[in-house]
Amino acid sequence: MPQLEKSLVWFRRDLRVFDHAALHHALKISKTVFCAFVFDTDILRPLLDAGLTADRRLEFIRGSIVELDLELRKLGGGLIVRHGRAADVIPALASELSINAVFSNRDYEPQARQRDAAVAGTLAAAGCSWQSFKDQVIFEQDEILTLAGQPFSVFTPYKNAWMKRLAAADGPFFLKPYPIERYATRLASSLPGTGQTPSLAELGFRETNLGALKITPGMSGAASLLEDFLPRIGQYEDSRNFPAIKGPSYLSVHLRFGTISIRTLARAAYQALHQGADASGAAVWLSELVWRDFYFMILYHHPHVAQRAFKPDYDAIHWESGPHAESLFQAWCAGHTGYPLVDAAMLQLNQSGYMHNRLRMVAASFLIKDLGVDWRWGERYFAEQLNDFDLAANNGGWQWAASSGCDAQPYFRIFNPLTQSEKFDAEGKFIRRYLPQLAGLDNKHIHAPWLAPAKVLQDAGIRLGENYPLPLVQHDEARKLTLQRYAVVKKAIGE
Ligand code: FAD
Repeated sequence: MPQLEKSLVWFRRDLRVFDHAALHHALKISKTVFCAFVFDTDILRPLLDAGLTADRRLEFIRGSIVELDLELRKLGGGLIVRHGRAADVIPALASELSINAVFSNRDYEPQARQRDAAVAGTLAAAGCSWQSFKDQVIFEQDEILTLAGQPFSVFTPYKNAWMKRLAAADGPFFLKPYPIERYATRLASSLPGTGQTPSLAELGFRETNLGALKITPGMSGAASLLEDFLPRIGQYEDSRNFPAIKGPSYLSVHLRFGTISIRTLARAAYQALHQGADASGAAVWLSELVWRDFYFMILYHHPHVAQRAFKPDYDAIHWESGPHAESLFQAWCAGHTGYPLVDAAMLQLNQSGYMHNRLRMVAASFLIKDLGVDWRWGERYFAEQLNDFDLAANNGGWQWAASSGCDAQPYFRIFNPLTQSEKFDAEGKFIRRYLPQLAGLDNKHIHAPWLAPAKVLQDAGIRLGENYPLPLVQHDEARKLTLQRYAVVKKAIGE
């Protein structure tokens, strides 16, 4: 591409000033580079219409934008912040600034792809080009294929091919950061509308408990979480399954909004992989980052998963319906199922916007295979509540739990919520944190209060059905019903 006079970098889910593919390429090839972020009304309007005016993600994004603007200023630039329909605002801004090319990092979600195609079309009609780059994954689209040249649909061979690609001669290239600072003199210093990040109220939203949760937005928040996690990476393999302990990195919200780059994390894991003591923990953590790439790749090649089962046979399942299903679902959302681990998990989600990975699996499995509710209902609820909500990973996780996904657990494997509770929260520490009314129960009965003798309940101050719910279903019976429900699949796959 010839040297450009003026370029515009459109920041979306990549809110950082370092190791940024689009910004790097724009700076390298342009004399002047403007930077912009749009609070997109196509995304915000539906939240406002639904009365969801307290959204931790919006507050996180806003905090990250303020920091991004500040950091760009330190480099001699700044961030143009607008509020409107991004599909209109970006072409308008490009025309206002006489931009030759708009640079962005690729988004793999179906709606974002449609939006980007529309923007690219509008820009092209005005003589401005659209440049997009891989940034949020290590390998994208068709970079990892089977020997037959097809996209993978099973994780382990995908991961093996992913690791092999990284170990190849040009492997280190994929983990290399994109330098920014050395080209920073090309950042436009005089910008219309910089330093004017709208307040939450101006955007129509209210403050949330993000600050009280000590979730620090922006690059600084991500850096301190990574610094905290790296000394623990060696223990990750063992610690990651126990929700009461600090096992995982809690970086997901930062990966979601790009306040840290995936290359920084994969590089750190890859290095730790080759350092004796940390090797096994680092291998498992790196593997989680590969799952992330895997689900982006699945969504890219199979966008139908956003609406339907990856495996079509599973669309024939009849889920519970009507007011009965609605009341089961509401109880699950509110953490009123009577199964303490499931309830504590849902309360963690409702109160903080985070849920531990083990509990996401337990809670999802419970909704689908104990309550018989359509996995899409749960997927939607997680999408509304999770700070780290990501269509690819969330859909992948739900379809895994429903057994309808690409590399899901078999339909007859049904998590037992009691066994999960006894195994992963043996001392009930996590349960007690979110359900203080159960704190007086001993470690044996805390997992299933309805099985506790009346005297034990009385001594602990628990009145089932009053200050803690009776179980919505009995797991053994629910299990049998689920196997009947999934019989349509069994027939379809010829078992
Ligand atoms: P860590 O254990 O520190 O893992 C590091 C990173 O690896 C995560 O931040 C994440 O980016 C990635 N990762 C870890 N596990 C997975 C996985 N199974 N699939 C894809 N990527 C993974 N993750 C999301 O980022 N957004 C979601 O909306 C989401 N929804 C989920 C829904 C269900 C039903 C399930 C079972 C899992 C879901 N996950 C989702 C995956 C996983 O639970 C979270 O990524 C993880 O709990 C985030 O915490 P962490 O950053 O401390 O993870």
